[in-house]
Amino acid sequence: MPADSPAAPTDAPPVPPAKPAGKSHAQKLLDKLGLSRDIDLALHLPLRYEDETRITRLADARDGDMVQIEAEVTHCEVTFKPRRQLRVKVDDGSDSCVLRFINFYPSHQKTLSVGARVRVRGELRGGFIGREMVHPGFKLAGGELPGALTPVYPTVAGLPQAYLRKAVPSGLARADLAETVTQEGLKALPQAQAVCSLRQSLQFLHHPTPDVSLAALEDRSHPAWQRLKAEELLAQQLSQLQARRIRAAMRAPPLALPAPAPAPGPQGSLHAQLLERLPFRLTPAQQRVGHEIDSDLQKNLPMHRLLQGDVGSGKTVVAALAAARCMDAGWQCALMAPTEILAEQHFRKLIGWLEPMGIQTAWLTGSQKAKERREALAMIESGAAGLVVGTHAVIQDKVKFKNLALAIIDEQHRFGVAQRLALRSKMSADGQEPHLLMMTATPIPRTLAMSYYADLDVSTIDELPPGRTPVVTKVISDNRRDEVIERIRGQLAEGRQVYWVCPLIEESEAVDLTNATETHEALSAALPGTPIGLLHSRLAPADKKAVMAQFTAGELGVLVSTTVIEVGVDVPNASLMVIEHAERFGLSQLHQLRGRVGRGAAASACVLLYSTGDGPRLGETARARLKAMAETQDGFEIARRDLEIRGPGEFLGARQSGAPLLRFADLATDTALLAWARALAPGMLDRHADLAQRHIARWLGGKADFLKA
Ligand code: ADP
Ligand code: MG
Repeated sequence: MPADSPAAPTDAPPVPPAKPAGKSHAQKLLDKLGLSRDIDLALHLPLRYEDETRITRLADARDGDMVQIEAEVTHCEVTFKPRRQLRVKVDDGSDSCVLRFINFYPSHQKTLSVGARVRVRGELRGGFIGREMVHPGFKLAGGELPGALTPVYPTVAGLPQAYLRKAVPSGLARADLAETVTQEGLKALPQAQAVCSLRQSLQFLHHPTPDVSLAALEDRSHPAWQRLKAEELLAQQLSQLQARRIRAAMRAPPLALPAPAPAPGPQGSLHAQLLERLPFRLTPAQQRVGHEIDSDLQKNLPMHRLLQGDVGSGKTVVAALAAARCMDAGWQCALMAPTEILAEQHFRKLIGWLEPMGIQTAWLTGSQKAKERREALAMIESGAAGLVVGTHAVIQDKVKFKNLALAIIDEQHRFGVAQRLALRSKMSADGQEPHLLMMTATPIPRTLAMSYYADLDVSTIDELPPGRTPVVTKVISDNRRDEVIERIRGQLAEGRQVYWVCPLIEESEAVDLTNATETHEALSAALPGTPIGLLHSRLAPADKKAVMAQFTAGELGVLVSTTVIEVGVDVPNASLMVIEHAERFGLSQLHQLRGRVGRGAAASACVLLYSTGDGPRLGETARARLKAMAETQDGFEIARRDLEIRGPGEFLGARQSGAPLLRFADLATDTALLAWARALAPGMLDRHADLAQRHIARWLGGKADFLKA
């Protein structure tokens, strides 16, 4: 929240002394803003500007104008009507107006004493008894008018604008701003941006001259802005390309295909046997991505591939086939999922497919018993287990693989950036990296893939297996619950099953639980005789498993759940999903949830129950999300809209990692600058490595790693 509230008197000393922010305290706040280095301060650009370069005569000002006046105090009193406030009347010779302060200090009264000449800045409003300014900024008149607009910086509570207005210029003065863009790069920039050096651009943006077009500053089309955006995009392209080259220098075990199976069966390789045993034929899209993966696995470069496919598109079987390839070549494969339930699903499916062919699987989770765990670790270390399935537990220190060659991560976006980095470092051995296959049902829009994931190859399953029926989605107000319960009765009567999802309230697991428990009770009362299960985050893993198993076996008609079923659960007989407080869910989350139904042949539906809470209507973004859900089922379209609603930073979960991805440039509009950066980056890394490194360090500092994860 910007702490540039007009209540803060502008006559505060420029750098506040120890009082509000002692040195280290201020530094902590600066760190919180990510401003630890001089260059960070220099790159901390204003949100907007205030024009203190002019004095306006009151007689010339219109109501609603943001003005700066110089006037004499003619009256100053504390009144109590309608509440305690300071009322100050000022006159500039052309007209008079009232300054009103609800919050004020004795220092206010002192500066604004009768007879004082003051410089006041604020919005002029036409009031009932005359014109007034509420909580204007003020200081004693005199002193020169500034020659530049006054910057208003993004800040945090406790760090006043006045502090930043001192700290930023001194950071700017100290920072090393030597040119890092090559001559060639400068030549390729439009003239206006090329003549404006980084230092000039920054100086200008921190203190623009008053004659500048405010519109050009606001929409960031001014050459100084363009220059900064170009540099930012260049840093990002350089770091991506560098990561790609580092990977190109790494080695991975090439998995020869076809390879002699470790335990040759009558039907040939595991891969061939698995294909043979599947109860369905692969879709053309599954076959295509299978080939893409196969061809990566044969190389001695580590695969770094994202497999994206909508919910239900059949990614698991593609993963199983890749695992079979890996084991055929005599290497171990690890498969990781973000939750135990999901890992369990994989485990069960993969076991069902692979164990009959003689594959040993080890299971690793956080909750398993010590003995079980020891046994699993031993099997992994000796190589007895060809396949390792589990949660984050798979990447812990104690886990030692005999010869891991392929790591598959499901729903990769649910793993934190740090975990993905850990995975990389933990799994490499003998100078060799495992091949990495990441799977996601939240597709990355093309522009993002190009710029953030330049270091990633992408395979896409763009069709669903045949025989799926589209899920009808209804958005219904919470006060029509009865109709929804009627619907549930209908489905149950047909022998179908129903999910009822309650939102996960992050701050409070307790509320969460109450919510789900109450819903469970209410539904049990409304549907007597129907077995209803309850699944929430507080249940022990074994209990969760038991409830899921009952639902899968058809023993439960309804499953009330918090979002633990969010990803990957596969119960084809479930044909209705009700999502309570749908307005609280994110778009991709809703899409994932909805993907749990429509997996069988029966016509399926998803009901999004929304509540407006105390307010009369839903918020704008919540409405946009629900509308998107009702209008489309296409995961790619949903991802596109999600990006539109949230912007790329949040879309990519940058918030969690704390690494802002792009501060200045906007991929949607700055395509020309992106093209410039992409064209420049390779040559810069080749021929001006030193400049390139300085450029990356300047812009990304310690965040470069996060971009690579
Ligand atoms: P997701 O991509 O969401 O992980 P799954 O791999 O869980 O999807 O597959 C969803 C369901 O579709 C599973 O029951 C799976 O066995 C089935 N399936 C996968 N591929 C095919 C196919 N080619 N034909 C028919 N059913 C398939
Ligand atoms: Mg899946």
